Amino acid sequence: MSENIEKTRCLIIGSGPAGYTAAIYAGRADLKPIVYEGMQPGGQLTITTEVDNFPGYPEGIKGPEMMEDLKKQAQRFDADVRWGNITEVDFSQKPFKALADDGKTIMADSVIIATGASARWLGLESEQEFMGAGVSACATCDGYFYRGKDVAIVGGGDTACEEATYLAKLARKVYLIHRRDELRASKAMQNKVFDTPNIEVIWDSTTKEIVGEKQGFMKAVNGAIIENLKTGEIRKLDVEGFFVAIGHSPNAQIFKGQVNLDENGYIITEPGKTATNVEGVFAAGDVQDHHYRQAITAAGTGCMAAIEAERYLAS
Ligand code: NDP
Repeated sequence: MSENIEKTRCLIIGSGPAGYTAAIYAGRADLKPIVYEGMQPGGQLTITTEVDNFPGYPEGIKGPEMMEDLKKQAQRFDADVRWGNITEVDFSQKPFKALADDGKTIMADSVIIATGASARWLGLESEQEFMGAGVSACATCDGYFYRGKDVAIVGGGDTACEEATYLAKLARKVYLIHRRDELRASKAMQNKVFDTPNIEVIWDSTTKEIVGEKQGFMKAVNGAIIENLKTGEIRKLDVEGFFVAIGHSPNAQIFKGQVNLDENGYIITEPGKTATNVEGVFAAGDVQDHHYRQAITAAGTGCMAAIEAERYLAS
């Protein structure tokens, strides 16, 4: 076999909490997994600040630090964690075939897909500038830091409405900024928003800029400049937190045509399992979950995927 072709019992694609947890379990099952970390090693948690809701860290932990710990834990059990990307897969034959951007071809008896999802952003420069310093795409992760403060959230779907009501329990006031005059969210979710006294919906509006203080490395949001698309009125909302909830995109493009995806591009898994429609290919974490999207649920499904892969290989 040429040195560019490698064989493995278990290939794990992606390296957030799902991928690393799968690697810990697969490593302990002696599957000697190969993990390709992907475009954003450590996944979405590497762009958050404090993680306060992962059990086992009474004082919280920084997202990147937690991912580094998970990686080390996987390596302790002989996971071969590689910096690089899988660019193409062929699940039509066994062993499964995957091409990596380091020039390797991996022939795998089982595959765990844990490529996650990426939050959609508005595309403003200031949004990037204040990321993790007032700007966030996850209210459940970061809402706690805005207790008693005023915040804004952009979007009109179920996520934005759900996160707005979550934030309303912590923040003093929540502005829900939506670009149209009606919400996309389900009626039940809309009603929750309308029934929450400290949420104000700002209709027909877009965000032009997020503004704040910058002193060296210290940055803090203190407002959002918004424009009413019907009247042209521009005004500043005085907010310290700015949340973006305009949807996520699952990182499943390379699996299109290889495993079944739903209409939003998420990998379909069997209910209560991580099995895809291809025997021997499993999916864990946000790439197959648009509902919970939490580090702990991703880790849980990573564990499930490794156990299912182990049982598949044993059978
Ligand atoms: P959605 O795609 O449903 O909604 C995205 C929202 O963001 C829309 O209101 C859209 O506006 C707005 N938007 C998109 N792009 C921009 C932009 N560039 N600028 C401003 N606004 C923008 O995403 P969600 O994450 O809310 O939901 C995804 C899926 O998950 C849905 O199927 C949803 O039902 C489901 N879900 C279910 C939950 C539950 O049942 N508890 C909880 C959360 C999600 P517009 O309406 O004008 O297109």
